[in-house]
Amino acid sequence: MTGILVSEVGPRDGLQSTQRVMPLEAKKAWIKAEAEAGVREIEVGSFVPPSLLPQMADTPELVAFARTIPNLNVVALVPNAKGAARAAEAGVHGMSIPFSMSETHSLKNLRKSHPEMIEEIRVVAEIARDADIHFAVGLSTAFGCTMEGMIGEDNVVRLAEQAANAGAQEFSLSDTTGYADPAQVKRLVRKVRAAVGADRMTTLHLHNTRGLGLANALAGLEEGITTLDASLGGIGGCPFAPGASGNIVTEDLVFMLNSMGYDTGIDLEKLLKVREIVAAALPEEPLYGFTPDAGLTLDYGTRGKS
Ligand code: ZN
Repeated sequence: MTGILVSEVGPRDGLQSTQRVMPLEAKKAWIKAEAEAGVREIEVGSFVPPSLLPQMADTPELVAFARTIPNLNVVALVPNAKGAARAAEAGVHGMSIPFSMSETHSLKNLRKSHPEMIEEIRVVAEIARDADIHFAVGLSTAFGCTMEGMIGEDNVVRLAEQAANAGAQEFSLSDTTGYADPAQVKRLVRKVRAAVGADRMTTLHLHNTRGLGLANALAGLEEGITTLDASLGGIGGCPFAPGASGNIVTEDLVFMLNSMGYDTGIDLEKLLKVREIVAAALPEEPLYGFTPDAGLTLDYGTRGKS
């Protein structure tokens, strides 16, 4: 059975756009329960300045807590070198920096041009190397940007190459805005892989804004993608499209992968129960997903093993 790493990003990407701050204890319970369901990697937070994003202020505490859980890879997002230094100090296993393929978006969001971002990536790579931390670059808005529209695929390839030369160990292609379609996913994964190597182009970060999230995930799997980001209940929604769900839903993704016979190591029944923790802590937030509503009526243990 091929192993696929499902990386839970709800505590970071999901909570980033919820109104209410989730209490630290609830976040801990969420992370612990997901790890107990078999999830092997969780992005627990973001090292942005707490004044900008109060929801992420407790990230150092969460990292310290998550590190006590056996066999869990603890990762965090870092916006820049300052954040990377804080993440290293907190003791993350892995860090990733978002690198927006839309220069307009990059300037507006992080106030950095593409050449300035490459320099930042170089510095972050050094910080990660010195602390023996895995360092990934998320090629965000790779499939389209709300400000710039379509992003040239050759541009994405060129920027990925530059980031690889600056020290990125691994890449994720991010459909930040939910514009990707399966044909585009296949093309871009293939092109970036050819440029930076298959062992480095491993991950897809998908949003389900237009309902194509799982179709895009499948397209990525067919191209040899081995890591898929997802968030429990698609929590947080999409800041660009009110009413739309956020990341692809972990529960639905795990249902698909387990059914197809991929080894995720995740117990879906246990995973479904984790929703109760999130729902209790953020009662006003909608939780998305089809599998949780439909339930598991088949003898789930025998599926995918014929
Ligand atoms: Zn995202």
